[in-house]
Amino acid sequence: MMKGVPRYLVTLLVLALACSLASAYDPSPLQDFCVSTNDSASGVFVNGKFCKDPKLMLVSANDFFFSGLNIPRDTSNPLGSTVTLLNVDKILGLNTLGISLARIDFAPYGLNPPHIHPRGTEILVGVGVITLVVLEGTLLVGFVTSNTDNSLFTKVLNAGDVFVFPIGLIHFQFNSGHTNAVAFAGLSSQNPGVITIANAVFGSNPPINPDVLAKAFQLDRNVINDLQKKF
Ligand code: MN
Repeated sequence: MMKGVPRYLVTLLVLALACSLASAYDPSPLQDFCVSTNDSASGVFVNGKFCKDPKLMLVSANDFFFSGLNIPRDTSNPLGSTVTLLNVDKILGLNTLGISLARIDFAPYGLNPPHIHPRGTEILVGVGVITLVVLEGTLLVGFVTSNTDNSLFTKVLNAGDVFVFPIGLIHFQFNSGHTNAVAFAGLSSQNPGVITIANAVFGSNPPINPDVLAKAFQLDRNVINDLQKKF
């Protein structure tokens, strides 16, 4: 026991820590599964969604199945990247399980721009593109810590390399190679959500008052107007 610290204070501290850890993540399921359905007549209301009643034999293997994540996605867009997210809306069986999966395709120099998942940590593996059995593609990835110091943690990933992006922190993935690249990511929520910084700040509907953004970013109002037109 620490000298000079009353025993009840230590007990209180331990209790406070235990309580603060209790409700931080997607809840653990209280049943084997809770396959999402829009049909309230044959469903059970659990955790914000109607779930298929397992007793009615409405649940099948297809509720836990998705096919086609091997197919390359079209990346012909201004950013040169496409995210295919398999969340609870795509695989109904993910409901209440606290997990989802993404495929990210990158054109050469394609970018998955700075963004946040408000409800999920992301673990990503650079897979590369198989051309003549050689794995290609190089991803420059990183995340920035909160305002305590805004530290950038960054890495260059080659095929097979894995990187973690903690929940709620701004992060990005950039294909710095001259070939296509592919990555897969697990996310610790059935619905991790995404906030793309540039779109949210400069492309909100209705637009944020340009004076607010000019001051916040220490930029000329004309630059803000240009940015707001872009997004
Ligand atoms: Mn992400």
